Amino acid sequence: MEFIKGSMATAVTALNKFKNFSDWFDKLLFEARIVDDRFPVKGFSVYMENGMFILRTLRQLLEGELARTGHKEMMFPLVTTDELFAKEAEHIKGFMKEVFVIERAGDRELDKKLVIRPTSETIMYPMFKLWIRSHADLPLKVHQSNNVYRYETKATRPLFRVREIPWNEAHTVHATASEAEQQVREAIEIYTNVLNKVCIGYLLLKRPDFDKFAGARYSIAFDAWNPDGRVNQVGTVHNLGKNFSRVFEIEFETRDGRRDNPHQLCYGFGYSRVIAAIIAQHGDDRGCVFPSTVAPLQVVIVPIYFKGQEEAILNYAKQVFDSIKDGVRKKLDDRQDVTPGEKFYYWEMMGVPVRLEIGPKEVAESGVTVFRRDTLERNVVPLKDVGEYVEQLLEKIDANLATKSRRMMEEMIGDAKTLNEAKTLIANRRIARVEWCGKLECAEVIKENVGGEIRGSRYDIVEIPKNGCIACQQPAKEVVYVARAY
Ligand SMILES: [Zn+2]
Repeated sequence: MEFIKGSMATAVTALNKFKNFSDWFDKLLFEARIVDDRFPVKGFSVYMENGMFILRTLRQLLEGELARTGHKEMMFPLVTTDELFAKEAEHIKGFMKEVFVIERAGDRELDKKLVIRPTSETIMYPMFKLWIRSHADLPLKVHQSNNVYRYETKATRPLFRVREIPWNEAHTVHATASEAEQQVREAIEIYTNVLNKVCIGYLLLKRPDFDKFAGARYSIAFDAWNPDGRVNQVGTVHNLGKNFSRVFEIEFETRDGRRDNPHQLCYGFGYSRVIAAIIAQHGDDRGCVFPSTVAPLQVVIVPIYFKGQEEAILNYAKQVFDSIKDGVRKKLDDRQDVTPGEKFYYWEMMGVPVRLEIGPKEVAESGVTVFRRDTLERNVVPLKDVGEYVEQLLEKIDANLATKSRRMMEEMIGDAKTLNEAKTLIANRRIARVEWCGKLECAEVIKENVGGEIRGSRYDIVEIPKNGCIACQQPAKEVVYVARAY
């Protein structure tokens, strides 16, 4: 794997991700060759080699999980007609303002306008109607990784808020409500497994009714923390009930011979949002810190040349390189025209989890100095042990990143009993845990006074309200999390 040398002069190190998140993030995306946001169409960006590597790796991790659980990969068209798109009333209401519509081809006006998918319900479900005849055809579980298009009207931000969104969407169809419920749990497990592999800290929330997916019965979401206090929705799971199967006339014959509409789910995993979370959560003032699972390069070997000993040092470095097993993504940075300090700086910015340093001392003592990117610690390891040591260290680094990230998630949350307390938390880039009566009016009061919105209540644990709604003081129905969001 070859990396193009970045500009050494522009220091990411001058920025702190908690204080200057936007500048830190934008600079890092460019310097670490994740995304180039200078593409001349707003909201569309170019994934450079490292961004693309992570995207492809995430895709493999997720698609492996989906295959393991019996989802079939398919590829559906990019477009639907405006007629089909309008079928589900809530759905069109939710997406109308942000869809791209094709009205012309060449110099001809199209008779039927084409809607470019903002998500694929209205593209897949006319086909589901044709495919599903009886209970024997169920469950149907399909998925596809694709790009969806939404005309984001708020300020765009690379990876977070874009108009071309690389994601995976899965759609399932079930005979009974309880099978659909079971599928909600499976979908959550799939996303949890992938997010755990990239060590992301998040809240699993049931969205309030007013914020559920357009056309769904209810929505569950994974909200990852972000250094600027805004939560980053990386995945969602929607139970559609029979809302779509009724309007798309999907019917099946039940075991006892009746006609019925099946229950449906759709769930989406935002690759670009997850890349954003990986960089934002794990990175530090020196640059990216990648978990080994997605690191484009896992180990870099840096010879520290001394005059007259160049050859001996390089030969020893090659021995070290060979002692790291082939499955590991490794590189020997043997450049002689770049100082070790510059190489350290560069590979730290690039987020390489492990660096092996080889100088005259290492050669003389048959040792290797091992530097870990997550804690910035150095250890000397005998050459004969280094292969195994590095493999274990990569796992340790991932475990440490996961622990740190979850701890930060917890630390970001603060309890608020008054609107003012909640407001202070949000202003300090934190997440407020408050009690809410469930009324829409109170949600609006909270939004106006606190500066964040209700993201939902915990889905994975039960939290019982004790004090009363933060807005109206009436008995509270649930404990909810309030935050600013991307
Ligand atoms: Zn209230």
